[in-house]
Amino acid sequence: MYKRILLKLSGEVLSGEDKKGFDEKALEYLAEEIKSVVKHGINLGMVIGAGNLFRGRELEGVTNSIGDHIGMLGTVINALYLKDYFEKKGIKTVVVSQIVNLPSVRTIHYDDIELYFNAGYVVIFAGGTSNPFFTTDTAAALRAVEMKADVLIKATKVDGIYDKDPKKYQDAKKYDKITYDEAINLGLKIMDTEAFSICKRYKMPIIVLNFFERNSLLNSILDSKIGTFVKP
Ligand code: UDP
Repeated sequence: MYKRILLKLSGEVLSGEDKKGFDEKALEYLAEEIKSVVKHGINLGMVIGAGNLFRGRELEGVTNSIGDHIGMLGTVINALYLKDYFEKKGIKTVVVSQIVNLPSVRTIHYDDIELYFNAGYVVIFAGGTSNPFFTTDTAAALRAVEMKADVLIKATKVDGIYDKDPKKYQDAKKYDKITYDEAINLGLKIMDTEAFSICKRYKMPIIVLNFFERNSLLNSILDSKIGTFVKP
């Protein structure tokens, strides 16, 4: 069983697939999945994307760097929305970030992160890497290493990594285990190359799983045989 995990969720987890904004059913599902993990006393850090609100590259006519700043602020909006929702469902949650100065957001400080975990809080890392031209996958890799996670769990809509897109090819083969280099070379856009590289450099294992299969998150933490395991 893993004791400390970093969970990377894309913004779409809050809105439902190909939708924008927030969806009550999606939030409820997410809160239930998180609650089941917290009940086991697992230290849970989360990085949330902003695909349900803004992605820099999708903002037509907006300068790249500014678009990305808007995207990063979107992750803060999501984090605060989630914090409020989680707290109402009885999940103690703290939002940390380096990009905003708000009374509801705490500055990232390593010593404090330990205190939050020891006190049973879920820690949401908002604001991506704090830099434009990156994505929240890379932020997840950085935060996983920083918080000394046992594993980075990348929540997706597919139940693991395949040799080709399983939505397009019926004969696609799923990997139970794969190396970082193999995952990068497949070029399937499961995660950014930057994120894989950071995990490879610091030997941070990754589990790619289907978040929408009930209990897959908890089962992967308890048993680790769910999805695809990316390792050195
Ligand atoms: N972003 C950024 N730097 C980061 C992380 C995110 O500039 O370190 C911006 C970027 O514009 C990105 C948006 O925030 O498109 C939302 O992040 P992402 O695309 O990773 O969200 P997801 O697809 O996971 O919902």
